[in-house]
Amino acid sequence: KVKERGRNGMQMFRSEMADEARDKLGRIEELRRAIELEEFVVYYQPQTSVATGRITSVEALVRWQHPYHGLLAPDRFIPLAEETGLIVAIGEIVLRKACRQAMEWQRRGLPLRVAVNVSARQFLEATLVDQVASVLADTGLSAEWLELEITESLIMQDAKRAVERMHELKVLGMSLSIDDFGTGYSSLSTLKNFPISRLKIDRSFIREIPHDTSDMAITSAIVSLGRILGLEIVAEGVETNEQAEFLAQSGCDIFQGYLISRPLHAAGLDALFAAHSSSTLHAPYGHPISR
Ligand code: C2E
Ligand code: MG
Ligand code: MG
Ligand code: MG
Repeated sequence: KVKERGRNGMQMFRSEMADEARDKLGRIEELRRAIELEEFVVYYQPQTSVATGRITSVEALVRWQHPYHGLLAPDRFIPLAEETGLIVAIGEIVLRKACRQAMEWQRRGLPLRVAVNVSARQFLEATLVDQVASVLADTGLSAEWLELEITESLIMQDAKRAVERMHELKVLGMSLSIDDFGTGYSSLSTLKNFPISRLKIDRSFIREIPHDTSDMAITSAIVSLGRILGLEIVAEGVETNEQAEFLAQSGCDIFQGYLISRPLHAAGLDALFAAHSSSTLHAPYGHPISR
């Protein structure tokens, strides 16, 4: 009896595994097809200068316009794309679209830097530098308008190799930033060797401001650290005026978050551009204009 149940149990386990494997293969197939059909769309979230209130840049954030499931957020497909290596192709699509869009904005007199996320798999791929160079060449975008975001945890997986890769990218003339900063345990000594322009404070530290005093202390410390290293500090996930006020007083340079805007498709940003470019030079959160 026990033996029988054991065997049935094992069979059930096997068939569940087979279901799961089939399901996964199906999802990989779908993702492949999505790449072929370019079902990915890029949303843009503005970043504003704390000093002037103006939009200085946007972050490109991918979505999958799925034929049945609608618009899918990156956490629904990036992990599988990363696991299978399909992220390299998706990353190129996003980069190309973002650079093309930045060119389009420039043509319309909107000089905006565009920040594009680079995943671990993409970053370590030997072809990354060539890929970026050819997208810049094809779209005609000058590299100074491109920023690549690399997460702190990715860099810390192999800091030495990451720094080498960063230097290769820097040669092309773009800027680099560290995303989700504060969660990846980089040390002061490694950080000073990174050829980066910006630190993006992870949203998890911003979320509980002004209620969590240790998060506030950590945030201030990151800002001071960035200052010492001559970096610009971006606060991600700014949702409330209280957070904005605290972050401005701490010395943050750039805000990104729902307080300013959710990520939008390019056309959706036009109204926001109009509002922000007509704004006079004032410091909306009491941050001195000159640093
Ligand atoms: P991330 O690069 O840290 O991007 C910021 C995420 O925070 C975005 O989520 C954005 O919509 C969200 N966010 C911004 N402001 C707020 C706020 O005030 N409140 C809240 N609750 N959330 C806010 P999204 O678009 O879902 O992207 C999630 C992650 O997916 C990104 O985190 C990034 O790691 C990854 N990702 C997005 N696009 C790409 C891409 O093209 N390539 C790669 N490799 N990864 C991407
Ligand atoms: Mg990012
Ligand atoms: Mg982030
Ligand atoms: Mg993140």
